[in-house]
Amino acid sequence: MFKLPPNVTFESLKMELMQIPQTDLLRMAVALVLVAIAAYFHYNKKPKGSLNPEKFIDFKLVKKTQLSHNTAKFKFALPKPTSVLGLPVGQHIICRGIDSQGEEVIRPYTPVTLDSHVGYFELVVKMYPKGRMSHHFREMREGDYLPVQGPKGRLIYKPGQARAFGMLAGGSGITPMFQEELDAFAKKFPNQFKVYYVLNQPPFAWNGGSGFISKEIIQSHCPAPASDIQILRCGPPAMNKAMKAHLDALGYQSEMQFEF
Ligand SMILES: Cc1cc2nc3c(=O)[nH]c(=O)nc-3n(C[C@H](O)[C@H](O)[C@H](O)COP(=O)(O)OP(=O)(O)OC[C@H]3O[C@@H](n4cnc5c(N)ncnc54)[C@H](O)[C@@H]3O)c2cc1C
Repeated sequence: MFKLPPNVTFESLKMELMQIPQTDLLRMAVALVLVAIAAYFHYNKKPKGSLNPEKFIDFKLVKKTQLSHNTAKFKFALPKPTSVLGLPVGQHIICRGIDSQGEEVIRPYTPVTLDSHVGYFELVVKMYPKGRMSHHFREMREGDYLPVQGPKGRLIYKPGQARAFGMLAGGSGITPMFQEELDAFAKKFPNQFKVYYVLNQPPFAWNGGSGFISKEIIQSHCPAPASDIQILRCGPPAMNKAMKAHLDALGYQSEMQFEF
């Protein structure tokens, strides 16, 4: 609460103000408005992204966490603790590494973090025994730098662009669609988001699907073909091919399908 000093009354303050020439008062008012506008833009401006679509930029690996025998989470620092990566939803980055033969290799990856994660971004990478970029990630140690370029990708997501999305994600391709914790998301928005897992070798007690994603699974869990829906798919090449065949057979026209 604003309090006047004991020797100043509202009356005396009014008198003081009345003595200031009108032009000076106008200048003060204009200055105040300009300060308010500058403050508004300062506090509301969107932080600049840390990527460059034309150039590789090095990001420092600050933490590597092994999640399973062949999958690890890599946390990279952004230039400043206040920086954001600046990767739009649905887009990916490309990473450059060196394979086991000393040759340069470039592969796409999708961070599991969003721009609401400030100062860092994370990748979850599945490493294949003979994979070329897998070798690079396996060898990376905390303190090493990874050259990254982006944003990349043909999918430019605009809110409201589709009434409903169906997402068919498989293998390491699950990460483009993993940007939120799927189960927590399904719990929080039961009428807007549903998730159904299919394992080709499920454990004994398993209430999801088993085998590969079939036409019947797509029919039961994805929006039916319509001009205002989209089915996104991302997975190993063989899976993408099989999913395209299923979608074509079910009547999803090509403009209703998108492959990452
Ligand atoms: C948009 C997009 C986003 C992606 N995001 C992610 C992500 O976030 N995380 C992630 O883990 N992956 C992601 N991927 C997949 C990723 O780009 C790579 O394809 C993956 O990491 C494998 O690359 P690699 O160079 O290690 O394997 P590659 O060298 O390309 O090999 C691919 C496969 O072939 C096998 N292979 C390779 N050489 C041999 C050989 N001589 N003999 C037999 N088999 C062999 C490998 O074991 C592997 O199974 C994404 C892909 C796309 C398209």
